Amino acid sequence: MKLAYVFVEHPILHLDHTFTYCCDGFMLQRGMRVLVPFGNKQIIGFVVRVEEVDASYVETLGYTLRDVIQQIDQEPLLNEELFSLGEWMAQEYLSARIACYQCMLPSKLKPSSNHGHIKMEAWVRYVKDASVKLTTKQQAALTFMKEQQEMLRASFYAQCKSPGKKLIELGCVEVFEKEAQAVLSNTNIEEVSVVLNKDQQYVIQSVQDTMEASIFLLHGVTGSGKTEVFLQLAQNTIEKGLQVVILVPEISLTPQMVKRVTKRFGSHVAIYHSGLNAQEKYEQYQLVKQHKVQIVVGTRSAIFMPFDHLGLIILDEEHDSSYKQDASPRYHCRDIAIQRAKFHQAHVILASATPSLESYARAHKGVYKLLEMPNRVNDCFPDVHVVQMKQAVLNKESYIVSNRLLDAIYDRLQKKEQVILLLNRRGYTPILRCISCGHIQMCPHCELALSYHKEEQVLKCHTCGYQQKVPNHCPTCHEASWRYLGIGTQKLEEFIQIKFPQARILRMDADTTMKKNAHEEIFSSFGRKEADILLGTQMIAKGLDFENVTLVGIVNADAMLQRSDYRSAELTFDLLAQACGRSGRGSKQGEVIMQAYDPNHYAIQCAAKHDYLNFFQQEMKYRHLGGYPPYRYLISFVISHKEEQYVQQAIQYMMRIVDKKTDCKVLGPATLLKLKDLYRMRVILKGKNQQLLQLYAKDVYLQHISLKLKAKLDIDVNPLMLE
Ligand code: ADP
Ligand code: ZN
Repeated sequence: MKLAYVFVEHPILHLDHTFTYCCDGFMLQRGMRVLVPFGNKQIIGFVVRVEEVDASYVETLGYTLRDVIQQIDQEPLLNEELFSLGEWMAQEYLSARIACYQCMLPSKLKPSSNHGHIKMEAWVRYVKDASVKLTTKQQAALTFMKEQQEMLRASFYAQCKSPGKKLIELGCVEVFEKEAQAVLSNTNIEEVSVVLNKDQQYVIQSVQDTMEASIFLLHGVTGSGKTEVFLQLAQNTIEKGLQVVILVPEISLTPQMVKRVTKRFGSHVAIYHSGLNAQEKYEQYQLVKQHKVQIVVGTRSAIFMPFDHLGLIILDEEHDSSYKQDASPRYHCRDIAIQRAKFHQAHVILASATPSLESYARAHKGVYKLLEMPNRVNDCFPDVHVVQMKQAVLNKESYIVSNRLLDAIYDRLQKKEQVILLLNRRGYTPILRCISCGHIQMCPHCELALSYHKEEQVLKCHTCGYQQKVPNHCPTCHEASWRYLGIGTQKLEEFIQIKFPQARILRMDADTTMKKNAHEEIFSSFGRKEADILLGTQMIAKGLDFENVTLVGIVNADAMLQRSDYRSAELTFDLLAQACGRSGRGSKQGEVIMQAYDPNHYAIQCAAKHDYLNFFQQEMKYRHLGGYPPYRYLISFVISHKEEQYVQQAIQYMMRIVDKKTDCKVLGPATLLKLKDLYRMRVILKGKNQQLLQLYAKDVYLQHISLKLKAKLDIDVNPLMLE
C-alpha cells in the first residue's frame, strides 16, 4: 500500500505536521499538490513524502486511512533545493513548513482550499496538407501555418482571415487550448556605449577573478555606476549559460531597473513583484521554469523563482528594510539569497551606498568581500546645506518650507531644472486636535491618531485603513473648531502650489500610487520633464536616476530620529544619504537642503558630509554600548489577541520559560500599542549566541502550541523594528 504524507493549509498554521492518506493508483511524487478529504471538507495539500508500506503497518495506525481524491500536478512544483530551503527557513525563522513553501509559490500554485484558475488561450496548429484543391489564398495560408507550426488563434484569424477559417473546417489546421503565456518584452537591445571607468573595471574584475562562490559587499556611493556593474556581471553570467536575479527593495524601483535591464538584454527578462496580479505572476514564473528567460528582476519574493542553474544574485540597496518579510515566515531576503547561492555555487552581490551595519561589519571581518566605489561617475557630490528650523521659525519663516529652500526652488524653476521634495508622511495633516479641549481624534481600532486627508475630506488610519468623515463637533466638548497639526504630503503640495502657482507638481505617496502602474507613470512623466517638482514620501528617495534634478529638499530630516527604535539613526542616515544621491546625477552641479530641528545629530551631519564610514563608526559605538545588533542577536515574541486576558495568560507561560534561560537577557514584557483591535505585548531575547537564542525560542514556540493557547504568538528572528 502506498501512503502520502501531506501538509495542508489550515487556519492554524502552526499545525506543523503531516496528515497521512492512502494514494494507491496515483503517480505521486514529493512536491505535488493533491485534493484530500479533511474532516467533512475537501482541501488541497502538498505531498512531502510518499512511502510504500505493508497493510499490517496500516492496521497499527489506530485510525482509518482515507484516500487521496485527486492528483493536481503532473510534476513536482518544488524541487529538492526548494524543499530543503523550506526546511531551513522553518528552523531558522521558527515558522510552520507549509507557510515557508507557500511563500515560494505564486498564488495560483499555492496549495489552498480553492486553487487558482489558470487562464487558457485558444491556439491553432498545423496538422496536415489538404486532400482537396485549395484556392491560392488558402494555399498561401496553409504554407504560412506550416512554417509557423503554431500560433495564437486571434493572430491567425487576423493574418489569414476567411481562408484561414476554411483550413480549420478542412482539418488542416486545428484549434487547441494552451495556458496563457507572458508576452516577452520587445524592447530593442541598445548598443552599449558606456566605457567602464576604473572603479567599475576593478569591481568587475575582482568578481570574475574569484573562483569559489562568494558574497561581495559592493559599497558604492550613489551615482558611482553600480547599476552598470550589475549589467556587465549579468552579461558575463548569462554567457556562461547561468541565470541571474536582480532584486530591488520596492515595486517603485522596478520600472527603472527593468528599463535598464531590458535595454541591455531585450526579451531575456522576467519581472516579478507584488504589483502583478495572480495570472501575471504565474506567467512570469513559468517563463523562468521553462527556461524562456535567463534574468529575473523583482522584489523580495523573486528570490524564490524556480531557478535551476543560478549564477549570480544581486541585492541592490541591500540595507533596505523592505527585504524583510513582515509576516510569518519573517525571512530576510539576504539570508535566502545566501542560502540559494550556497546551493548553486553562485556569487552574491550585496550593493548599497549605505550598507546595513551588519553587512558592513561582516565585510570588515572578512565574511563578505568588500568592494568599494567611492567616486561618482560625474565626479562631483552635491552641496549639502542643513537649515536649522528652530531659527527659521524664530525668524518668522514658514515652518513648512524655510526661505532658504524656497529661494532654491525658485532658482531651479527659473533655470528649468527639476526639484525633488521629500516628506516622509502622507495625508494632509497627521493630527486633528480640538482647539478648545485638546481632544485628538483617534482610530477606534488602533491606539493611533487619525490623519486628515483633505482631498477626500476624510480621516484615515494609516495602519488599519479605517476611514471616517471629519466630525462637525468635538465628541468630548462639543465645540466646533479643529486644529490641523503637522504636515503631510498633501499639505506640502498645497503650500508649494500657492508659493509657485506656475510650477507643475507631481505628488507620489501611497494615496497617489494605488492604481496599477501608477509608480511607473509618475516617474516617466517626471523623466519626460512634464513636471518641475516631484514631491513625496520615501518612495522617491531611492534609486532614481533623473539627470535634470539639481535640487533635493528634505522637509523634515530628523522626523525619524524621534522614534524610539534602536535603528532610528541608521534609518535616518540611509534616507538622507539616498535622497542626497538623487541630486546632480547629470552634468549639472547638484544641491541638497535638509531642514532639521536637531541639525547636530551625527546621522544628519554624516549624511550631509557624505561620510558613511564616520557614521558607521559612531553608530557602532552606540550599538556596542546599548548591546544591540550587530553586537548582539535579538529575537522578538509578540503575543496578540482581541481579549487582553488571553494575552496576559500567554505572556505568563512564556515568562516561566524564558526567565530560566541563561546566557541571554530578557527584555519585557512590554505593552505595545493596540492595533487593529488587538491587544499586544512583547518580550525580547537578547544574546551573543544566535543558535542558543533560536533553541530558546523553539521552546517557547513548542510550549505555546502544545498548550493550545488562544493568543497568537508571532516570532521575529533578527527583528528590524522594535516599535
Ligand atoms: P548607481 O547605481 O551607483 O547609483 P548608476 O549605475 O545609475 O549608479 O550610474 C549613474 C549614472 O552614470 C547613470 O546615468 C549611468 O548611466 C551613468 N554611468 C554609469 N557608468 C558610466 C560610465 N562608465 N561612463 C559614463 N556614464 C556612466
Ligand atoms: Zn486603525
